[in-house]
Parts: sequence; structure tokens; C-alpha cells
Amino acid sequence: TEAQLRQSQKMEAVGRLAGGVAHDFNNLLTVIRGYSELILGRLAAGDPAKREMEEVKKAADRAAGLTSQLLAFSRRQFVATKVVDLNAIVTNMDGMLRRLLGEDIIELCSELDQSLGAIKADPGQIEQIVMNLAVNARDAMPTGGRLTVETRNVSIGKGPRRETMPLESGDYVLLAVKDTGQGMSEETQSHLFEPFFTTKAKGKGTGLGLSTVYGIVKQSGGTIGVESKIDKGTTFKIFFPRVDGVAQSGQAVPANADRVHG
Ligand code: ADP
Repeated sequence: TEAQLRQSQKMEAVGRLAGGVAHDFNNLLTVIRGYSELILGRLAAGDPAKREMEEVKKAADRAAGLTSQLLAFSRRQFVATKVVDLNAIVTNMDGMLRRLLGEDIIELCSELDQSLGAIKADPGQIEQIVMNLAVNARDAMPTGGRLTVETRNVSIGKGPRRETMPLESGDYVLLAVKDTGQGMSEETQSHLFEPFFTTKAKGKGTGLGLSTVYGIVKQSGGTIGVESKIDKGTTFKIFFPRVDGVAQSGQAVPANADRVHG
């Protein structure tokens, strides 16, 4: 649709802009951080300017962190796509996700379809998607809850249609990330994938998480949608086109192993 086209053009423009700005900023920040370090080393321990200089250095470090996020955002184009087993990628992330969520208040569940089809994607990008969605889910559940990662085969155009999202007929692999968090308003949902849209406190959110996810999903020929209810929770659904070959559980499918049935 026209809205989608506008969105992807906007993404591309922002990506290019962000990459250029981030690169120049990074060089300038290196100068600021370097000289702050130098000055800090020359100031005596009791000098009141020392504390002030430390603040300058801290702010510059934080700015460098933000620019590296911007750089990562604009470097999405360098990808290594192959036929992969989504379940294997998700399973490998288990430890990382548990650490991220803080086991004590957020429960992590996975519902992985053992006969899941294969997809064509960059495994690193898939990890980035799951991480970004998981960070948002965690932030939406400050008092605890449950994060569920689900995978499932979905076919459109054969039998009754169970998906509410607009999808062309065909075979898909669904990755769903569900939380039992605070949910979001219709208004928030309508801006969700826009670069720099955030409702988080200053310094907490960049507004680049979901636009990055959106960019990656588009690049893999997929579709993303969201279902959310205030105080009930949010589900992000990503549909990847299914490729030939059934993914063997726990292992990436070699690119030449197409048409393995079972
Ligand atoms: P950021 O996380 O830096 O704010 P994102 O692009 O990842 O940027 O998210 C944009 C906004 O979408 C968030 O600020 C939040 O308002 C909303 N959001 C995203 N995921 C969720 C979620 N799982 N539950 C509730 N709100 C969410």
C-alpha cells in the first residue's frame, strides 16, 4: 500500500541520515572523550573542577553509546541471508533472554512448533528482532509477568483464515512474542514502527527498536503486526515466507537441503 511505501522510504532516508550523522558525531565525541580523560588526569583529587569534568565525560560516553546504536540501525543493509531454523535461533537465545528479563519477576515461556518450516534470513538479525521485542516486553512489565515466544506454521488460502493480518496466500512461519504487560493505546499503536517514536522516559528509549525490527522484517520479505490491549498485554506477530525444506530441530538447515519431508 501507499502507506507502507511511504514508511519504507522514510526508513531508508532516516537510516542514511542517521548513519552519516552518527559517523561524524562519533569522531567529534572521540575528541571530547579523549580530552576529558586528559584533563581529568591532570586535575588534583580535591579540585572541584574534577567532578564537573567527570560529568562532561559521562555525558560524552552516553552520547557515544547512542551514536553506536544509531550506527547499528543504519548498517542493517549488510546482511548474510541463509536458510535457517528459527527454533534453533530462539533456543540459543534462552540464556540471554533469561538474564535480560530477570528471572525473579518475569517468566519466560517458549512454545516452539517442532515441525516448523525453514525461513531465509540473517540469524544475527533474527536475534536482534527477538532482543528488541523482549526489551520492550520487559519494559512493559515492570511488576512482572510472562513473556512467551511462539513459533508456528501458518498457511493462508487453504482452509479457514485464522489470521487477522493482511497476508497474501502462501505458507508462512510465524514468530510471535507475547507479553502480559501494560499494553498500548490505539494512538501508540499507529506510530509504533516510526523511527524515533517512543513513550519512554528521556534517556531510556531511542524509538529505534521497532523501526529496526520493521526494517529487518521487510528485508526478509516478511510482515509484522501487533495486537495489544491496555493492561492485558501485547503480541507482536512476524510472518516470514516459508522456504522449501523442513527445519531439523536444533540445527540450521543447509541451503542445499531443500525438499526434506517429514
Ligand atoms: P523504544 O523502546 O526505544 O521506546 P521502540 O521503537 O522499541 O522504541 O518502541 C516504541 C514504543 O512502542 C515504546 O516507547 C512503547 O511505547 C511502545 N511499545 C513497544 N513495545 C511494547 C510492548 N511490548 N508493550 C507496550 N508498549 C510497547
